[in-house]
Amino acid sequence: MPNYVSIRDISNDKVPVGMLQLAGWIRTHRQSKRVSFIELSDGTSVSNLQLVVDPQLAGYADIAPKLATGASIKVSGELVLSPAKGQKYEFQVKELELLGEADPESYPLQKKGHSLEFLREQLHLRPRTATMGAVLRVRSAAAFAVNKFFTERGFFYIHTPIISTSDCEGAGEMFHVSTFDPENPPRVNGKVDFSQDFFKEPASLTVSGQLEGEICAMGLSKIYTFGPTFRAENSNTTRHLAEFWMIEPEMAFYELQDNMLLAQEFVQDVLKQVLESSASELEFLASQEWAQQGHLENLRRVAETPFETMDYTDAIRILEESGKTFEYPVKWGIDLQSEHERFLTDEYVKGPVTVINYPKDIKAFYMRLNEDGKTVRAMDVLVPRLGEIVGGSQREERHDVLLEKIRAMGLDERSYWWYLELRKFGTVPHSGFGLGFERLLMYLTGMTNIRDVIGFPRFPGFAKF
Ligand code: ATP
Ligand code: MN
Repeated sequence: MPNYVSIRDISNDKVPVGMLQLAGWIRTHRQSKRVSFIELSDGTSVSNLQLVVDPQLAGYADIAPKLATGASIKVSGELVLSPAKGQKYEFQVKELELLGEADPESYPLQKKGHSLEFLREQLHLRPRTATMGAVLRVRSAAAFAVNKFFTERGFFYIHTPIISTSDCEGAGEMFHVSTFDPENPPRVNGKVDFSQDFFKEPASLTVSGQLEGEICAMGLSKIYTFGPTFRAENSNTTRHLAEFWMIEPEMAFYELQDNMLLAQEFVQDVLKQVLESSASELEFLASQEWAQQGHLENLRRVAETPFETMDYTDAIRILEESGKTFEYPVKWGIDLQSEHERFLTDEYVKGPVTVINYPKDIKAFYMRLNEDGKTVRAMDVLVPRLGEIVGGSQREERHDVLLEKIRAMGLDERSYWWYLELRKFGTVPHSGFGLGFERLLMYLTGMTNIRDVIGFPRFPGFAKF
């Protein structure tokens, strides 16, 4: 392992002053007769380190013109307390090696800030920017927080399949997985003959790990998944991706109320963990021009305050009585649209709200039917600016009720034989939810486009690298 110190450790006062080695990319290089300064970034911290170079340093004069923004270098020297204001440390260079040039004529990322749109076209260089560096470090910290939260509470981390032959009931359009020649698949009576395909039946990329998660919860009590999911919905919005990461806990013996509490505790705990572990990243992001006023204070408040709960039926009444004209008219039975969710969170509650007990006709077949026969034990956690961040429910554990729902919704009961068997053999009340990891990251970082919280976004017309 190379013997480099990270700028993160230096900024966190974990490195004693003295001789050491660093490597990274040049942010800026300012030359003068008596002294030169290089701002170095190694991507581990929002801070750069100021390198101080004596222009007489052996070999410096020859390479100085090449020490441009974006070039990579390796240095040895001494970390000292800085006499300058605004920085604690600086680094006095004793040896400097140029690793890779970055020609200023062609290197796309110059010193000045670039728009997020422009950076989306430079995905191969984007992680080197201060903003994307911060976002990716928050992403890493949040993933750790997720695993910590569940592991500490006795949940087991399950890996559900990415290739699946079970449709999680139209959670979204699916991407097909096949080895057929798309030009010329084998056909029988004009129809594609999947019995000759790799899996001998139609397969696709998973839209949710829930059904497999339920299988595991029926053996291990409390599990969670955290993996990629795929939706081929042609929705070109700022909160949908075609490939996103979802966290899906599933718990035996949990009813809707337990599920709601867990979702709230989970969101709040991850906020708290990341507010602490990524404080400097979140502060940096909150100081950007596109950030919302009071973003961090808001996160801190949400992390401490119990979420409001609202019955779907009450939500509809509140919307009807709001005096607002919505593009999509409000009446009992509709699925809440983004504009409705925004009113509830941004204007009415002014914070997160968990909406429960939705009409059965707009929700999936597996949600547990309420005694009224009209609504199901569904819950969506809605947050300001974003709308839905969590979608979940208590699952229908009664075999006959489930079978009837499957039939009533026109689904093929034969393909759910195994799901029905879980209700035949040792069935128990159980619940779970799905939280889109990128939605959570938008909430944390304040980024307003989901394409900016994942390294390599996939959306309609775009799957670069
Ligand atoms: P929405 O109504 O926002 O499209 P949904 O109801 O289709 O979401 P679910 O099927 O309930 O979503 O999925 C669970 C969670 O996964 C959602 O609450 C959301 O956080 C996230 N999610 C769903 N679709 C996407 C997507 N296309 N891109 C990113 N995250 C998503
Ligand atoms: Mn949903």
